[in-house]
Amino acid sequence: MEIDREPHSGDEADRATYFIESVIDDHVKEAMRRAAEIPIGESGECDGCGEHFMRLVDGMCGRCRDKFARYYAKGF
Ligand SMILES: [Zn+2]
Repeated sequence: MEIDREPHSGDEADRATYFIESVIDDHVKEAMRRAAEIPIGESGECDGCGEHFMRLVDGMCGRCRDKFARYYAKGF
């Protein structure tokens, strides 16, 4: 991310930028912590498409879970 700055901006602006960056960093760390809590899943045949995947969650591959999520969103 690029943040445009005046060449001679004061310490306040620099401190603000450092603060923003540290907040973003905290969000990234929080996202990584949450990602680590997502179920690892298991390998096997997908219930949706029958293909073998290294990682299934609830018996379905990511592609099928996305596909069915779309159907659910449409009300099928
Ligand atoms: Zn599938």
